[in-house]
Amino acid sequence: MIQYKTSEEVQLIKESADILGQAHGEVAKYVKEGVKTSFLDKIAEEFIRDHKAVPSFKGYNGFPSSLCISVNEVVVHGFPSDYELKDGDIISVDCGVFHQGFHSDSAYTYPIGEVSPSVIALLKATRDSLYLGIEQAVVGNRIGDIGHTIQKFVEAKGYTVVRELVGHGLGRKLHEAPEVPNYGKKGSGPLLKAGMVIAIEPMINLGTRNIVQERDGWTIRTADRKPSAHYEHTVAILENKTEVLTTHKYIEENFKF
Ligand code: MG
Ligand code: MG
Repeated sequence: MIQYKTSEEVQLIKESADILGQAHGEVAKYVKEGVKTSFLDKIAEEFIRDHKAVPSFKGYNGFPSSLCISVNEVVVHGFPSDYELKDGDIISVDCGVFHQGFHSDSAYTYPIGEVSPSVIALLKATRDSLYLGIEQAVVGNRIGDIGHTIQKFVEAKGYTVVRELVGHGLGRKLHEAPEVPNYGKKGSGPLLKAGMVIAIEPMINLGTRNIVQERDGWTIRTADRKPSAHYEHTVAILENKTEVLTTHKYIEENFKF
């Protein structure tokens, strides 16, 4: 069942999302060659706890960390580890914050050093597809309009859309109804109404759309080991506008590509 939020609840999610946006900005300062991904996780967790909030992912179904860090062919749900970022990698940093009873969720994929132009193009297209999807998240549209727009845009560039993992409603729970696929038919799926808060999160692959799960029970990678990109925002659908509650502003102040 979809949980529609009051404006007071949307405001609380916005406050959670503000902490999240700043936590991402802190992490962005350290995203570079030679840095261990576990260090980024520590930065995020400290920042979140210093702001009287809780990392949403840590302990979620047993997930061990505050960030999901997914390098290169890893699509999502990678563990922070002793792995040191190296020139040419891409890294998706996904984070959630729980504050005053509400979750927020957002992700960003960074290039490290010199990344091949074809992979930079994948990152840019995935980020652009997120904003195109957000434009469709308006009262009176349907969930399928979001996915249709994302899918059409990225497939026209030769990329593929992961099917098994989707965006989601969120609020008091990290994952609520409805599912928000990054593919679909125009005019299909649940009607978008004021008060819905959803995470839109295209996961777009350079090669095959097929994925496999590693034996750790979490890490999802592309079947062909080609790179995958992931960008995510939490958005509130309101009567007269759609508000992007999370922000990549602090990332983009600290990290340009
Ligand atoms: Mg999410
Ligand atoms: Mg996320």
